[in-house]
Amino acid sequence: MTVGYLFDLDETLVVYDPERRGIFRDACRRAGVEPTDDAAEAVGPGYVETFAAFEESPYVGAARAARDAGLEVDPDSFAETYVEAELAATHVPDGIGSLLASLERVGVVTNGYGPVQRRKLAATGLADHVDCVVCADDVEAFKPADAPFDAITDAVPADDYVVVGDSVDYDVRPAADRGYRTVFVGDDRPDEADHRVPEPAAIPSAPPFRRDD
Ligand SMILES: [Mg+2]
Repeated sequence: MTVGYLFDLDETLVVYDPERRGIFRDACRRAGVEPTDDAAEAVGPGYVETFAAFEESPYVGAARAARDAGLEVDPDSFAETYVEAELAATHVPDGIGSLLASLERVGVVTNGYGPVQRRKLAATGLADHVDCVVCADDVEAFKPADAPFDAITDAVPADDYVVVGDSVDYDVRPAADRGYRTVFVGDDRPDEADHRVPEPAAIPSAPPFRRDD
């Protein structure tokens, strides 16, 4: 029986140091502007609203919202600077790369923005071990909708699937509803998850991956 392993990306295969506020501050430093609380708070909603329309980069929407909140930046160039700061903050926990390399069928299904998520996978070397990536803008839908899961299972055919992610709502519950095995990454203990690990670095020790030999 073939098994496909489907991973979320953010806070599952990759982690961030610094986290979101620190990335914003780093982007401001790179752009030579002083970060403000108003601009920092505008970034998240600007990203989400722009992404939901699936017309342009949500990073440009975030940068425009920061400019509208008073940050003196050009949205297009600040968006690229922000992406570079996010890429610089992206880290892969030890053991994740070799885990993916050991698996035959690997998909990544993420609610992130395709061009940036693919840059993260390329920059970290994880792309070499991933058979297919489905991002929200590829299918114009976000998990927990069926479309991202339909797209990744079409691209990574298998008899059975294991889904690994840090969100109960976006990863674990929709996967369980489809009859897949699940690994939750985080501190909660969701009833829906078959297995749980406390953090991304512990994913290789989850029962679906553990080698007893
Ligand atoms: Mg995640």
